[in-house]
Amino acid sequence: MPQAFNAIVIGVGAMGSATTYELAKRGKRVLGLERFDIPNDQGSSHGVNRIIRLAYYEDPSYVPLMRQAYELWSEIEAAAGETLLYKTGSIDTDAEGGAVFEGSLESCRVHDIPHEVLTATETNRRFPGYSLPEGHMSLLQTDGGFLLSERSIVAYANASMARGAEIHAREQVLGWDVTGAGTVKVRTDRAEYESESLVITTGAWSEQIVPGISGNAVAERQVLAWLQPEDPSLFSPDRFPVFNAMFEEGRYYGFPVFGIPGFKIGRYHHLDEQTNADDLARDVTARDEEILRDAVRRYFPQANGPVMTMKTCMFTNSPDEHFIIGSPPGMSQVSFAAGFSGHGFKFASVIGEIMADLVTEQGTRHDISMFDPARFG
Ligand SMILES: Cc1cc2nc3c(=O)[nH]c(=O)nc-3n(C[C@H](O)[C@H](O)[C@H](O)COP(=O)(O)OP(=O)(O)OC[C@H]3O[C@@H](n4cnc5c(N)ncnc54)[C@H](O)[C@@H]3O)c2cc1C
Repeated sequence: MPQAFNAIVIGVGAMGSATTYELAKRGKRVLGLERFDIPNDQGSSHGVNRIIRLAYYEDPSYVPLMRQAYELWSEIEAAAGETLLYKTGSIDTDAEGGAVFEGSLESCRVHDIPHEVLTATETNRRFPGYSLPEGHMSLLQTDGGFLLSERSIVAYANASMARGAEIHAREQVLGWDVTGAGTVKVRTDRAEYESESLVITTGAWSEQIVPGISGNAVAERQVLAWLQPEDPSLFSPDRFPVFNAMFEEGRYYGFPVFGIPGFKIGRYHHLDEQTNADDLARDVTARDEEILRDAVRRYFPQANGPVMTMKTCMFTNSPDEHFIIGSPPGMSQVSFAAGFSGHGFKFASVIGEIMADLVTEQGTRHDISMFDPARFG
């Protein structure tokens, strides 16, 4: 007889670890299954940290979710006895009239978020690690900062197990089926399990295991670089806010020196390289470095020192870059969260709550209409 659970979560990364915790908190008998290690550097959540920002240029309707996410990050920090969220302030910057600056400003207006508007000269004077071009405008928001990504997954996994969850790493789910009785059978490379409900949070591998989302959750290769600044004190967390910056070469994001040596920078949609998650080119090339170093040379010149670390990672893009949360048609006992399109980590805490709501209440008080998979037809 397969072992039986109230809920099985496939993929114990950012979203899956938070979901496992929220289900265990509600007294559910939950099993989390992860094909690699916990945490691992194979998917989308490694590389020390991820930006969190409240002034959400992508769409103001993310802000209520973000506010609840902040509450839940505090809760897991308390449970773990560890700081996971560091507030450095966040800069959203763009040429005047550009979508990043105007969209961030709009979300502040709509949701009454405290913020400051700075010209390029004011930004560069206040934060001397920055060298923004003339004409750029910045929105500074003091709640912005970064989350420790691997540590958050560890915190959620530990807190889940402390509340009775079972978690297995190095166990790959090979397939699942809804049985005639309405339960779900999950088959792995080690065993078979049965559960009342199933949550799928498999990140860049989602198209392989969620029916009906092919072409709407596409893995994309990303590269991160850490470069040693000439004067690291200009790039310390108390002097260098995280940034989301649109330049003429593309949109970049970056962090102060933290955790490992070097100022960290990445470019959204790096070289536009779509990939199959199992075939990701994990090696880093001279071209990868040059793309990132070129932006550092122009906009953060004091950080243009030797490479300290480089890493590849994956986005999972939906066509409109909004998340995809729902159930496959006709399968209310199965739900999935995918397509986080390079901006999901900061929401992991509230996504965990939403996925647990979908399991225990078949609905959620949070407005997730924008994430309906049916929007793609
Ligand atoms: C370079 C980079 C920078 C980013 N920067 C930011 C940022 O600054 N701020 C932000 O908010 N977001 C950011 N993101 C996006 C964010 O990191 C992702 O949206 C988030 O990590 C996705 O979490 P996930 O749980 O969907 O995926 P993951 O954390 O990758 O978890 C999926 C897990 O499922 C497992 N899995 C897959 N298939 C199976 C299977 N068959 N059986 C068992 N397990 C399976 C995988 O091994 C993996 O561990 C960034 C992403 C990248 C790549």
